[in-house]
Amino acid sequence: MHLYVHVPFCVRRCSYCDFSIAVRKRVPAAEYLDAIRGERTTLSGWVDPLETLYLGGGTPSLFPAELIATLLGDVVRSTSRCDDVEITLEANPEDVTANAAREWRGAGVNRVSLGAQSFDDRVLRWMHRSHDAARVGAAVATLHDAGIDNLSLDLIFGLPAELGRDWKRDLDRACALAPAHLSLYGLTVEERTPLARWISRGATRPPADERYAAEYLEAHERLAAAGYRFYEVSNAARDDRRSRHNSAYWSGRPYLGLGPAAHSFDGRTRRWNLSAWDAYRRAVSAGRSPVESQETLTAAQQELEHVYLSLRTVAGLPLAVLGRPGPSLAAWEGQGWVTLEGDRLRCTPAGWLRLDALVAALTGDCQTV
Ligand code: SF4
Repeated sequence: MHLYVHVPFCVRRCSYCDFSIAVRKRVPAAEYLDAIRGERTTLSGWVDPLETLYLGGGTPSLFPAELIATLLGDVVRSTSRCDDVEITLEANPEDVTANAAREWRGAGVNRVSLGAQSFDDRVLRWMHRSHDAARVGAAVATLHDAGIDNLSLDLIFGLPAELGRDWKRDLDRACALAPAHLSLYGLTVEERTPLARWISRGATRPPADERYAAEYLEAHERLAAAGYRFYEVSNAARDDRRSRHNSAYWSGRPYLGLGPAAHSFDGRTRRWNLSAWDAYRRAVSAGRSPVESQETLTAAQQELEHVYLSLRTVAGLPLAVLGRPGPSLAAWEGQGWVTLEGDRLRCTPAGWLRLDALVAALTGDCQTV
C-alpha cells in the first residue's frame, strides 16, 4: 500500500501557488489529528502492508515535531509495514531545526523533501518564501546530522526574465549539497495566485517558451555531469535513489490518501476529498465521509493514463499497448524527441518538453505534434 497524508497548513501563500492550503500562523494540531483519526476509521479497503508513506502539503514540517510520531503512529497503527518502508516528509528549510530533525527521525521519517526552490535571496523573496538561501544548506547539514541522508531538493525554473535568476548557478549550488534526489518544476501561472495578478496588471510577464525549454535542457546536462539521472520528466536521482512513493503513482499502482484534498485510487476509480480544511474537518467530525467526488476511468481513459504515465518515465511505453497504427515514430526519432528500442518508446529530454502533444498524437486525439 502507498499512503499519502495531506497536511494543508502554510504560514503564507507563495506567489505562484494554487494548492489547497489553509494559511495559519499556528497549526491546529489537535483538531487535525482528530480529523485524520476520524477519516482513518471510516476507510474500508485498507490493505497491508505499507510500502511508502508520504506526508505532503501544505507544509507538514509546520506540524509540531513531537506530534509527527503521534500522527504516524495513529495512521499506521493497525497496518503492518514492509521492513524498509519509505516515509517521506515534505519540509520547508526554515522549519528544520536540530530538535525537529531528531524527532522526525525518531518517528520513522527516513526521507525529507526540502522546498529549496532557489539559492537567490531576491528570487526567494519574490516567491514569498520564508527562507533565505543559507537556510537550505543549513537544513541539509542538520538533517544529515540527525541521520536522514535520503534528501530531495525542489527547484523551480522558467522564472520571469526580469528577475535575472542565474539558473546554472542555482543548479550548481544544489548539486554541491549532494542531495540524493532533485525535483525540478517549471513555473506555471495558475489562476487566483499573486503571480497571475501581477501578470494581469502588467507588473511581470510569464517566461517565454524558449527560456523554459533552454533551462530544462540545461538542467539535464548539468545534472548528468554531476551524476544524476532523470528517471521521470521532473525528477532526477543519483545512485538510483528514486522516490518510491511517486514512482507508484507513475506506474499506475493503487494508493490511499488521507486529509483535505487527498486523492485515492484503486486501479480503476479515483476519489478525492473536500479540499477546504474547514469543510473537511466538519464532515469528518459529523461522522460523514469527506469524499467530495469520484470518477471511474473508462477503458479509453485508462489507456490514455497508461500512455501518459509510461512516457513520463525512463521505463517508456511498450508500443503493443496502443493497438492501433500510430504516427511516424521514425520521424519523431529523427527530430530527437524519442528513442525506439525494440518495442519500447522512450522520450528524450526534448521529447519530455512536448510530452502532451506526443501523447495526444499517440492516442489519436491529434495528428500533429
Ligand atoms: S509552502 Fe508549498 S504549499 Fe505552501 S504556499 Fe508555498 S508552495 Fe504552496
